[in-house]
Amino acid sequence: MNASDERQMLDAISRWLEREVRPKAHALEHDDIYPEEMVAQMKELGLFGATIPQLYGGLGLAASTYARIVAMISEVWMSLTGIFNSHLIMAAAVARYGTEAQKQRFLPKFASGEIRGGLALTEPDCGTDLQAIRTRAVRSGSDYIVNGTKTWISNGIQGSCFALLVKTDPAAQPRHKGMSLLLAEKRDGFRVSRKLEKIGYKGIDSAELIFEDYRVPADCLIGGEEGRGFHHAIGGLELGRINVAARGVGVANAALKDSVAYAQLRKTFGKPICEHQAIQLKLGEMATRCEAARLLVENAARAYDAGERCDMEAGMAKYFASEAALENSIEAMRIHGGYGYSKEFNVERYYRDAPLMCIGEGTNEMQRIIIAKQLIARNPA
Ligand SMILES: Cc1cc2nc3c(=O)[nH]c(=O)nc-3n(C[C@H](O)[C@H](O)[C@H](O)COP(=O)(O)OP(=O)(O)OC[C@H]3O[C@@H](n4cnc5c(N)ncnc54)[C@H](O)[C@@H]3O)c2cc1C
Repeated sequence: MNASDERQMLDAISRWLEREVRPKAHALEHDDIYPEEMVAQMKELGLFGATIPQLYGGLGLAASTYARIVAMISEVWMSLTGIFNSHLIMAAAVARYGTEAQKQRFLPKFASGEIRGGLALTEPDCGTDLQAIRTRAVRSGSDYIVNGTKTWISNGIQGSCFALLVKTDPAAQPRHKGMSLLLAEKRDGFRVSRKLEKIGYKGIDSAELIFEDYRVPADCLIGGEEGRGFHHAIGGLELGRINVAARGVGVANAALKDSVAYAQLRKTFGKPICEHQAIQLKLGEMATRCEAARLLVENAARAYDAGERCDMEAGMAKYFASEAALENSIEAMRIHGGYGYSKEFNVERYYRDAPLMCIGEGTNEMQRIIIAKQLIARNPA
């Protein structure tokens, strides 16, 4: 996509956000309603195929363009990005590691949004330590028989296909050698046990999924070779982290923009509060965080697009931008005074949404550990 195509796409998304999303997001979010109409519009905008190669019907966007789109949408309603984001990480696993037959069969339907889904890695007793998963897949003729439970799965209710991380050899050492990634479509044996209630990130469904003697045809093993699932799952996380970082940029910006506007309108002691130094200090810090977060995301996306190793860059972007969203949302609440605690303003949504970015796609504790390890590896004494 050249610069002018990119501009056109960003303009179309911006118009859609102002016309369709901004006026409706508040009510849908508060009632935790899945935004069906917006999902249909996102299909038309091509967002379900944003990063899928053009050869398979997607838009084939570079990570840097995609990150800009994610930040723009998150500035209006962050939850929407989760609906296509984890779907695209599933698609990326197929595009990068799948067999040609899997690419031809699944990617065009993922790109059109006809089949939508996400990533099913986390289990009730493990998230960070993914190698400890217990969901088991046993080969039986031309199928795998899967038993286990996954939790916190985004799009779990509305989606129909998931990249499902399983143990094909629980005794393998190291543990990751016994892990595989399957493309699991909903049918007998695969059910949603419950919708999980959250403080924020509403509208999008997060669910617990149960697999009971669920049969997956062996040709749905991504890449066709057992034991590669852990690498396939974490191989998508660099892009995933850049995306979560871009969401952080969007929420941090939204908190800043609302605060800049409010601080000029609200008066105390005869002048707008933006003329009080205490508020100016906050605005100055918030704006600097936004700019730094945006630059870190751009830097990580550029490295990703250039095919460079970028776990450190993506980790820095994800860590900093998500903390920026959290800090800016709390500062926005303070600047709005009592109204920051009101459900009538968007500010309270920002500080309910922001913490998720500090947890998802690898917690921020883990990001700092990844950054430090890479720092040592790249700078041997
Ligand atoms: C709204 C939402 C949506 C999600 N969507 C998905 C999804 O679509 N698919 C999916 O698979 N998962 C999803 N998740 C799960 C998410 O990825 C996990 O919650 C996350 O990876 C953390 O795992 P955990 O909750 O098990 O925490 P734990 O792994 O139990 O961690 C608990 C705490 O210990 C810290 N910790 C753990 N190990 C270390 C260590 N070695 N060193 C230092 N600190 C450590 C962590 O940083 C954290 O602070 C979602 C979660 C939420 C809340």
